[in-house]
Amino acid sequence: MPKIVCPVCGGEFEVESVELHEVLECPVCGVELEVVSLNPLVVEEVPEVEEDWGE
Ligand SMILES: [Zn+2]
Repeated sequence: MPKIVCPVCGGEFEVESVELHEVLECPVCGVELEVVSLNPLVVEEVPEVEEDWGE
């Protein structure tokens, strides 16, 4: 199983499978992580989407 290393908290967790651009939730800190590369496996924090942009 692919092992994910959370770039936010450094926690490691395994998932059954990953797909490109899939969003995973870190079970350690709860942040959402998007798969941005499969080989090597790279995930990035998904910025929180706010509906009010305040412009
Ligand atoms: Zn985390």
